[in-house]
Amino acid sequence: MARAKNYLDQKLAEKLRDRKYYTTDSNPEFLKEVEKIGQTPAHMCYQCGTCTGSCPSAPRSSYRIRLFMRKAVLGLEEEALTDPDLWLCTTCYSCTDRCPRDIAPTDVIMAMRNLAFRKDIVPRNFLQTVQLIYKSGHGVPNNDVNRAARVKLGLEAEPETTHKYPEYIPGIQKILDHYKLKDEADRILAKGE
Ligand code: SF4
Ligand code: SF4
Repeated sequence: MARAKNYLDQKLAEKLRDRKYYTTDSNPEFLKEVEKIGQTPAHMCYQCGTCTGSCPSAPRSSYRIRLFMRKAVLGLEEEALTDPDLWLCTTCYSCTDRCPRDIAPTDVIMAMRNLAFRKDIVPRNFLQTVQLIYKSGHGVPNNDVNRAARVKLGLEAEPETTHKYPEYIPGIQKILDHYKLKDEADRILAKGE
């Protein structure tokens, strides 16, 4: 069941509770940027709610994709980019499969995450995942419990990934280096220490 979120930042919590729309909060360029990065016509959203109804995250959290679609259309940039719920989408694309307006809400969320990243607004666990991928090629490295379970099932202890072929890790690092993702993760994480 969805539960009330306990935002540590009380100012943000208060702002997110406030349902009023203030034109001074609106940045019309935000919608244009989201559409350009996401390559999807977010302005076509007519708030039917099919996306939220399809979303596996919605029943388990306070995350509502329809709300983010509305924030995009209204240009509520700061509100959208500072909302921790932005990071609760699993990118399963169920909403994109079902949107009757052929919008890709998933790509709207991804575009917003890109914009948030440019402002260094990224949850620390996402940044730590980047560091893990850089180190091992995986966001969730294998461990002894998984290895034992795999062997019990008649599988090899290591899956057919960089766990088994660590020689491919430098290739993954090269890709992350190209986008400076690891450097950025290190930089933002160091700032909070
Ligand atoms: S399903 Fe599509 S049109 Fe309906 S609320 Fe979601 S994004 Fe908007
Ligand atoms: S892609 Fe994200 S927003 Fe869409 S249904 Fe999946 S979890 Fe929900």
